[in-house]
Amino acid sequence: MTAKSPITETKEKWVYVFGPGRTEGGAALSELLGGKGANIAEMANLNLPVPPGFTIITQVCHAFFTRGRELPPSLRPQVADALSAVGEITGMGFGDTQNPLLVSVRSGARASMPGMMDTILNLGLNDLTVNGLSKRAKDERFAYDCYRRFIQMYADVVLGVDHGIFEDILENYKNLNAMSLDTELEADDWRVVIDEYKKAVVENTGEPFPQDTNEQLWRAISAVFGSWQNARARTYRSLYTIPDAWGTAVNIQAMVFGNLGDTSATGVAFTRNPSTGEKEIFGEYLRNAQGEDVVSGVRTPQPLLRSAGHAPGGSVNSLEALMPDTFEQLKGVLEELEKHYGDMQDVEFTIENGKLWMLQTRAGKRTTAAAIKIAADLAVEGIITREEAVSRIDPLALDQLLHPTIAPGATNKVITTGLPASPGAASGLMVFTPEDAVDMASGEVGVILVRKETSPEDIHGMQAAAGILTARGGMTSHAAVVARGMGRPCVTGAGAMRIDMDAKTMRVGSLVFKKGDTITIDGTTGRVFAGAASMRQPELTGSFGILMDWADSIRKLDVRANADTQHDARQARDFGAQGIGLSRTEHMFFDEERIVAMREMILAQDAQGRRQALQKTLPMQRSDFKSLFEVMAGLPVTIRLLDPPLHEFLPHEDRDIKAVARELGVETEKLKIRISELKEFNPMLGFRGCRLGIVYPEIVQMQARAMFEAAVEALKTTGQMVKLEVMVPLVAFRGEFDAVAGEIRKVAASVEAKMGQKIAYEIGTMVELPRAALRAREIAQGEEGAAFFSFGTNDLTQTCLGLSRDDAGPILETYLREGVLTQDPFVSLDEDGVGALIRLAIERGRQANPDLKLGICGEHGGDPRSIALCHAWGLDYVSCSPFRVPVARLAAAQAALKGRSS
Ligand code: ADP
Ligand code: MG
Ligand code: MG
Repeated sequence: MTAKSPITETKEKWVYVFGPGRTEGGAALSELLGGKGANIAEMANLNLPVPPGFTIITQVCHAFFTRGRELPPSLRPQVADALSAVGEITGMGFGDTQNPLLVSVRSGARASMPGMMDTILNLGLNDLTVNGLSKRAKDERFAYDCYRRFIQMYADVVLGVDHGIFEDILENYKNLNAMSLDTELEADDWRVVIDEYKKAVVENTGEPFPQDTNEQLWRAISAVFGSWQNARARTYRSLYTIPDAWGTAVNIQAMVFGNLGDTSATGVAFTRNPSTGEKEIFGEYLRNAQGEDVVSGVRTPQPLLRSAGHAPGGSVNSLEALMPDTFEQLKGVLEELEKHYGDMQDVEFTIENGKLWMLQTRAGKRTTAAAIKIAADLAVEGIITREEAVSRIDPLALDQLLHPTIAPGATNKVITTGLPASPGAASGLMVFTPEDAVDMASGEVGVILVRKETSPEDIHGMQAAAGILTARGGMTSHAAVVARGMGRPCVTGAGAMRIDMDAKTMRVGSLVFKKGDTITIDGTTGRVFAGAASMRQPELTGSFGILMDWADSIRKLDVRANADTQHDARQARDFGAQGIGLSRTEHMFFDEERIVAMREMILAQDAQGRRQALQKTLPMQRSDFKSLFEVMAGLPVTIRLLDPPLHEFLPHEDRDIKAVARELGVETEKLKIRISELKEFNPMLGFRGCRLGIVYPEIVQMQARAMFEAAVEALKTTGQMVKLEVMVPLVAFRGEFDAVAGEIRKVAASVEAKMGQKIAYEIGTMVELPRAALRAREIAQGEEGAAFFSFGTNDLTQTCLGLSRDDAGPILETYLREGVLTQDPFVSLDEDGVGALIRLAIERGRQANPDLKLGICGEHGGDPRSIALCHAWGLDYVSCSPFRVPVARLAAAQAALKGRSS
């Protein structure tokens, strides 16, 4: 055995090479190599044209930070070896003055974080190697273009000199020499400008621009690792919950040049349209350009496809038109990559003198609409299975599809038009800075963030905004990519806008808008409107319908909706609900006309008075039920008896009390006394739920009559009897259930006799008190026990935790911040506590009655994590708000798939 040498601190392999004939990594190693490095290696393995290079693994990032931002010395020889291997493949030498190898130093974490960390291009240039490059390329202007780019990027990323300083120098030079701002400089000009760049570096850092290429490389590697902790990257990580501990890898890769004139170019491409999912190549490129030129929005890029142009005959400047051979090659590579990965890819490429080089591939970000279409199409094309397609869509992201679009009849003035960068429409107050976006956005009022172009520093403002509008940039600009990922409508490249950041105004022609003015953007068409345009809800057909059908055939849970009105019930049916899991009858009474009768009932002196008042509400309640049942013909409908504390119906303002007294013909003072008698300290734990019906059986009788008569009437119009489930709320004791259920049965028998029609109904209870869960066996026992349990998880969470939901806000905020809890129990079921009660109730209830029907009707019924629990516990259905129904259908299918695979 050899003793560990004290000098070599590790024998660990820290560098993985990629390139023709010798690639050490692959897509499976993204944890080590980061996404970018792993996928570059994968492309090299597929023999695609990838410039050779190597990846320094993510572990080195940890080592770097634990050593106080120092690279471990043992990394040096590994980097030197890999670098000379790259030199051999390319036939160039790093630092060689005659035939210099230039490299890029690229960040790349496990999860894609576009533009959040730093990349340096053209590294290896100095005052001598620039001449070697110039001779090799026989293009002096090109060599200086590379050198000035390198100085600017290196100074910015490594030396901390703001890039604006260099842009100012260049602009001044052009002004002094009476050149227009888009003039391309000649080599002689660049020599002068580069001298000034170098002076600026000395002025700003006190040191000359480093001429030693090894020093350049070493410091660049440190800076790129260091960028893992820059502010932008940290914000991005917290927004997308990417763990701090992951770290970034650093990729070092031989440069290829898109800035070698008109047969060279650089671009980005998606294998399918990331907005719509359409199967067509989508992307942009710039000739004679390098690196970030395409996405920075400084020059306007050209489309890849000829058909993307609006002119007859398409775009004459497209890649397809100008470099048809290279375009065909790119097309072939895109097809191969998509098949290989089984998903839509987003690639970066460069063309050097007509030759295609692939620089990056990753699964492309896309809108939800595109995600659905792509998943469904890939399954139909046989590239992935239906199950895989169903499991790929984030259920919560379906919400994006429910984004409104501009109503066809909208008459708002079109101010200007840009590019349709992220679909959906949004109205809001105009703001010009991310800070104002955060300040002015509230629950009710949306803001539209208006920028010349966005940069990664704007992320928090984009998050706060309802929509984003930029003057510059293309379909793949920063704003477009980020907005699509966030599901924010976005219009980019609205070039007619003139933005004055100081005055906070936006001008188009003679129209002037200022901060706080309302505008509407339509990210589906690119149009921008004055004022708030009226909106329309989308229809959910096509691929959405197909994918949902697949989800339905996979899931075991039924999905019902919580719906109180015919409108909601219809909405729920349109979204695929299989019935109603909760209809709250009290909502039917808040209507202005009806509340009078309700108040009369509550304030009546005796049962006789209450019955009289209830008699007035009976026809209203019956017609409400009838309209619900007609929509839900043949389906289960759970109707909950009156639940809230009565005083919620009473007037509180003096003026209202007077009005009610007048309506009821009683003295105001008497009314006030009655109201104060009804006041409770803890209404949530007070006179509500089944307690109302036990003290005032007339209420139960009226409601039951309304339900049963409505069921018979609806049968007459639809030909189908609804499956009525009458739900008794807030039961703790079997005796409570029996008292209320007894009244219901009596009414049912009398309606059946009177109308000569058998009614399909069951009586069950809402399990929302811990005692009900504990006594579930007793409550479900026997012929006359509860036929179903519906877990009312809002109240069950409140009563299990002893925490009122309405008062929980500030408490939970602290808990979540301090890590006492990791999840809001009112959003996602508390599995260990509330969940334990539910499991107990299921077990005991089913012991008493194996056919006991089980469902959940709290807010949790629309939360994917809670739905997965419901599936695992073997519930029969979940019930949620109509707009959550598609979310629940998909989440239930994914829960079933997870159950299969585990
Ligand atoms: P980001 O993660 O911000 O996309 P990248 O590391 O992908 O940063 O680099 C940005 C761009 O720089 C690439 O899209 C590509 O155009 C250019 N680039 C990077 N490496 C090279 C290289 N070796 N040769 C030519 N261009 C490169
Ligand atoms: Mg990139
Ligand atoms: Mg309740």
